[in-house]
Amino acid sequence: MNPTTREYIPFARPVIGKEEENLVLKVLRSGWLTTGKYALSLEKSFIKYLNVSHALALNSATSGLHLALEALGIGNGDHVVTSPYTFTATIEIARYLGAHPFFVDIEDSSFNIDPNLIEEALKNEHRKIRCIIPVHLAGHPCDMTAIKDTAQNHQVPIVEDAAHALPCTTNAGLAGTVGDAGVFSLYATKNITSGEGGMLVTSSEEIAARATTMRLHGIDRDVWGRYQAVSPATWEYDIVAPGYKYNMPDLAAAVGLAQLKKVDVFHLRRTQIAEKYLKHFKEHDFLVPPPESPGHSWHLFLLLE
Ligand SMILES: *Cc1c(COP(=O)(O)O)cnc(C)c1O
Repeated sequence: MNPTTREYIPFARPVIGKEEENLVLKVLRSGWLTTGKYALSLEKSFIKYLNVSHALALNSATSGLHLALEALGIGNGDHVVTSPYTFTATIEIARYLGAHPFFVDIEDSSFNIDPNLIEEALKNEHRKIRCIIPVHLAGHPCDMTAIKDTAQNHQVPIVEDAAHALPCTTNAGLAGTVGDAGVFSLYATKNITSGEGGMLVTSSEEIAARATTMRLHGIDRDVWGRYQAVSPATWEYDIVAPGYKYNMPDLAAAVGLAQLKKVDVFHLRRTQIAEKYLKHFKEHDFLVPPPESPGHSWHLFLLLE
């Protein structure tokens, strides 16, 4: 159908209000458009909201997943366990580093990766499995208690793909905060948006330090830090590795800040709509409604035909 006609149902229209408009105007008029105090403020807001030690504002969740794996030292020939039922970004970031996905099948009940099969893979697999990337698909919480147990038994780190999971409560805590690192997406169609954007959260000093350097060209001091430096000596910086260009500009962060303030309101609304859908789809036996869970973020509503 023609997407410009009224009959077309958009996949996800962002809910943007005066708050977003006002903050973006402030940034435009401030003279500072790239990563600065708005990005910093968004990071602080995520730290507070999720109760984590570090949050890094990025230009996408894909970047965040890439940085997390890079910081864990994953490279050529390594394997990462993940779900075959996800968006391509979860997989491609392993390939960026020369690593390979090792697909572990999903549970019927949740459509999420099956923790028992992860255990089996880690026990029996000869290939070097260096990381587990659970995906909270559609916002349905993964069984993080079981996944964490397995990960600890085999000393394999966890990077949560929490792109759909703001906010989502698992049986081991908030999605994105249970593993060694977690990554949220602020893409235009996700639960909150900054236009394009991502947030890497971690409680690991090492991951945070490495990802901070690598998100901006491998430079050991960011631009905002250098700008605020008081003496010329502190303007200097070193390039310690060939990094990436993954920082979030303040223009995007302004939108994200206004959106994060509404995240719980959005979540409540999504939950109400999901409840309505569940009630009505249950009346039709040609469709199987999605699995329910109290911690669901209801990013998507997956119907099985
Ligand atoms: C959207 C999405 C991503 C990537 O998010 P971007 O911010 O667009 O890079 C990663 N994983 C899943 C499951 C997603 O749906």
